[in-house]
Amino acid sequence: MRIKIGTKLIGSFVLFVLLIAAVALYSVVVGEKSLQESIGTSSVFLAEEMLRRIDESVYLKIEGLQRYLKRRYLQETIIKSNREFEKLENIGEYIESKDREWVSAPKDEITPFMKELLGNEFSEDLRREFIEFYKKKYGYDVFGELFVTNKYGANVAQTGKTTDYRQDDEEWWWISREKGFYVSDVEYDESAGTYAISVGVRAEDESGNFIGVIKAVVSVEEIIREAESRTQQYGTTVVKLLTKDGRLIYVTEDFQFLEDVSGKEFFKKIKEGSGFFVSVEDGREKLFSCAHSIGYRTYQGRKWILVVSHDIQEVLGPAFILRGLIIAVSCFLIAIALLLAIFLSRAITKPITILTKGAEAIGRGNLEQRVEVKAKDEIGTLAATFNEMAERRKQAEEELNQALEELKRSNAELEQFAYIASHDLQEPLRMVKSYVQNLEQRYKDKLDSDANGFIASAVDGVTRMQVLINDLLAYSRVGMRGKPFEATDCEVVLDQALTNLKVAIEESGAEVMYEPLPTVMADPGELVQVFQNLIGNAIKFRSKETPRVRISAEKKKKEWVFSVQDNGIGIDSELSERIFAIFQRLHTEDEYAGTGVGLAICKKIMGRHGGQIWVESAPGKGSTFYFTLPERMRDTS
Ligand code: ADP
Repeated sequence: MRIKIGTKLIGSFVLFVLLIAAVALYSVVVGEKSLQESIGTSSVFLAEEMLRRIDESVYLKIEGLQRYLKRRYLQETIIKSNREFEKLENIGEYIESKDREWVSAPKDEITPFMKELLGNEFSEDLRREFIEFYKKKYGYDVFGELFVTNKYGANVAQTGKTTDYRQDDEEWWWISREKGFYVSDVEYDESAGTYAISVGVRAEDESGNFIGVIKAVVSVEEIIREAESRTQQYGTTVVKLLTKDGRLIYVTEDFQFLEDVSGKEFFKKIKEGSGFFVSVEDGREKLFSCAHSIGYRTYQGRKWILVVSHDIQEVLGPAFILRGLIIAVSCFLIAIALLLAIFLSRAITKPITILTKGAEAIGRGNLEQRVEVKAKDEIGTLAATFNEMAERRKQAEEELNQALEELKRSNAELEQFAYIASHDLQEPLRMVKSYVQNLEQRYKDKLDSDANGFIASAVDGVTRMQVLINDLLAYSRVGMRGKPFEATDCEVVLDQALTNLKVAIEESGAEVMYEPLPTVMADPGELVQVFQNLIGNAIKFRSKETPRVRISAEKKKKEWVFSVQDNGIGIDSELSERIFAIFQRLHTEDEYAGTGVGLAICKKIMGRHGGQIWVESAPGKGSTFYFTLPERMRDTS
């Protein structure tokens, strides 16, 4: 996958900032969690402490009543009542009838029997010792009502009019009698007219025998005083005291006494022991901490639940502000990083793009191209180096072009000279030859034999010179009179060459074989000459064996490689380059006739066709001449 430098830069910048932001956010979240934990834990501690004090206050009431019942004259009063009841014929019936009488009296009426009870010394004492004493002390009613029964459950003393006369039909009475004391849950006390708990305590004589029960209705206000006093942790802190089945005993805000909240979400999350959790109440997220009452000393408590709750928003407010701040700062940083990365990547990629474009332009051959990068950094240096390189390459190319031009010009001049010289030499030579031939004819028998020999040699020399000049002219003409390239069937070309070589082939008895040959773009006349020269040489430089010549063509990459193979005398590999130069021969005229121009002509023709020519050979092993032609050549003439 290709990713641009700019993208990489921007990506890494943003990634970096994101990482930092993530770490910051993570630490805030961890901070929030531990803050929540510490507030939760301290609230749980607070709740446990409040419950302990509530239970302690209940216990102190029990203890107070027990201490009170130790007073001798009170015990005696109860015992006296018991004795009086023992004297009755049927205690149960007596109590029953008195109770019926009591209950059937109108609510506000005080019968003489009631009045007697309410007014006795014991009742007075109870009012004094509890109701009045505490009201004076605290300014409100701590005890709503107190009354004492004898061991048969009949009232002996009472501070107000009780609902009925007999109490042994009540659970609290029996539990107090059996277990020593009894504490009720919060309930509406009809005779006291308040929400209260009732505390029952067993009365005993000095030897521990059961003599009766005292019951005190303790106002709930007294119990929750503790909870009320130490609640203001936060502005949104709410403290709730609940019965174990989820009815409200006390809330630090407006509430309905004994309202059942067990269906609320927070209550369902309360578990056995102490703990804290987050829940929603009245549409607000809150941190709840709760504890269960476990009692105090011998009092085992009523498993009340104390719940302290704080609005999460307030408790974790500073953490939320910090979180918001970090998010804002992160966004800001990301924006800055993005801008910086864009700026940086522009600063880096712009000169690189300019450099790339420059390099591409120069690659296409536009040597005038220069790059304009003003940066003073490494890229600036690179650009300067690049420009220098382009300048040098331009100079070198110019010099090369000049040299080439020069070379072409001097070559052309040389060829022109060779052509003109050989052309101009032909005429005087022909003249010399015809005069010498005349001389020979006329004075053949009038001169001595030496003179005849000289004349013959002169004719020979001139003839040979004519051959040389003709060959030279042929060489010079290559290209000069060249025809435009055309689609040329090499088999037709080969056919022509073989026709031209007919005599030599027949005389030598040579076997010429060839494989299918392609059609190429070429000057057919010149191609005939190439084949003719090569096949002619193959026959001419034969060994003692019958000459066998094999012609074939093979396609390699984008060109055709032709080969002319013989079984002749072969060539020393060290000399295989030289034979392509003009007038270069490896043999004397006597051994093998020739001028040393044939291969030079082939090479020149190949040059014109954009091909190559070379030989692979070894003495005595035959030779293979190769030449190439482009597969599909354009008409370049
Ligand atoms: P010429 O044939 O007139 O001598 P060429 O230019 O055709 O001139 O050849 C140059 C020299 O290369 C030849 O004199 C010969 O020595 C050598 N040569 C060319 N073709 C062959 C061949 N097929 N086998 C051996 N030698 C060869």
